[in-house]
Formats: sequence, C-alpha cells, structure tokens
Amino acid sequence: MIRKPIIAGNWKMNLTLNEAQAFVDEVKRKIPANNQVDTVIASPALFLATLAKERKGSDLKLSAQNSYWKNAGAFTGENSPAAIADLGVEYVIIGHSERREYFHETNEEINQKAKAIIANGLIPIICCGESLETFETGKTAEWVGGQITTALKDLTAKQVENLVIAYEPIWAIGTGKSATAEIADNTCKVVRTTAEKLYSKEVAEKVRIQYGGSVKPENIAEYMAKENVDGALVGGASLKPASFLALLDFIKQ
Ligand code: PGA
Repeated sequence: MIRKPIIAGNWKMNLTLNEAQAFVDEVKRKIPANNQVDTVIASPALFLATLAKERKGSDLKLSAQNSYWKNAGAFTGENSPAAIADLGVEYVIIGHSERREYFHETNEEINQKAKAIIANGLIPIICCGESLETFETGKTAEWVGGQITTALKDLTAKQVENLVIAYEPIWAIGTGKSATAEIADNTCKVVRTTAEKLYSKEVAEKVRIQYGGSVKPENIAEYMAKENVDGALVGGASLKPASFLALLDFIKQ
C-alpha cells in the first residue's frame, strides 16, 4: 500500500502578510517540478485568501490552523469552514495541542470540527499526542487511542480513509527534543491500529499519519523511512523557505 507523503508547515501565529507572500513566491519558484509529496502550508487564517491567489501555478497546498464547526452565525472571532473552503484551501488542522492546552478544546469539539470540515469538502489534519507525564508513565497508547476514537466518532470509512492524522507528542513540540524515529513509528502504529479496530484493515492502510515535534531537514529522513510515518507536521523549521524546501529532500537522502 503506497500512501502519498504529506509534509505540512504549521506557521502557528507567525509572520506578517508581506512575509507570508514573499515566502510563497520563493517556494513556488523553487519547489521541484516533479514533486511527489503533498506539500502544505498552514498559515494564519488572515493570510489564506491572499496566499490562495499567490500560490496559483504551483502545487503548494494550503491549510487553515483551526476552524469552527458551524458554517455561519453569531460566533464572534471564529472562522467558518464553509468560508475557508470557498477560498480554495485544501486542509484544516484541528486539535493541535496548543489549542487543546491554551483554548481548552476537547475531543468532542474536535469531532464536531472534523465532521464540519469534511462536509465542506476540506481534509482535516487531526492532531493527537500525549504529555510528558503520560509518556513517562507508559500510557501513550491508551491516551492517543482514546483521542482518535472520539475524534473519529460517526465518521464513515470513506471519510476516514481520506483524512490525515498527526501524532505530535507534546513534549517534543518546539522543544528541540524530538521523539526517536522508533517512538514516532510505534505511536503512529497505535493510531493505525485504532483505525483498524474502528473500521477495517483497508481503511487503516489508507489513512495518512504524520509525525510532528521538532522535525527539521536534518532529521526528517529518519522519520519518513519508518513504515507507519507518512509525513511530518513541522512548526519552527517551516518558517524559512530554504528550510521548508529542504524538508522535501527526504526522498533523496
Ligand atoms: P515544532 O512544532 O516543529 O516547532 O516542534 C510542531 C507543531 O507544533 O506542529
């Protein structure tokens, strides 16, 4: 089963519109013509409309970093998944650990968001991952399995086949302490096995699973060589065009 690799840069709350445009212009010119990787930038929602025009003519894909689960209404400050889809954006990250931790998002809300995003023709990148304490007490599999089970509730097999799950141990995000490739592979396997239990082997073999947490050009190839790792979700090392483009070189290494 060949799953198409997916490398996504998560800019978080960084860059200005001018900087974002300059980034996309440069990446657009330098992205390999025969790029075999789904290459995604998750920019702040403020820039998506402009970047959707800026990236035309390249195969650079765009993602929002979050959305609400209603398409419209009195929800001040939220972003509509229908409006995001209307921009021509392809993906929406949901359930990032920063949103869970600082904005108290729950697995149930992430499930509502997943359904709304899919209903609008977008692909969710559903994040999961454990704290250092959960990791050190050997409860990662149970924790991550639970996060995924609730996030996927009521989704059909066809919907789950097409979505992306990002395993990001909280202790490895922005810390420079990346998980070893073995740990990443093992927990990505837990995610795949959870999909198999909830759906089927066929679904589990199609769903793409990324590792995230201090991934950089120097270590990405180790992760991508692992059976259960189909891509990476990259924060810090995705903010400069040269570093972002170097993440795509894992195939040659
Ligand atoms: P990092 O962030 O690559 O800076 O560790 C990853 C993420 O939070 O998606």
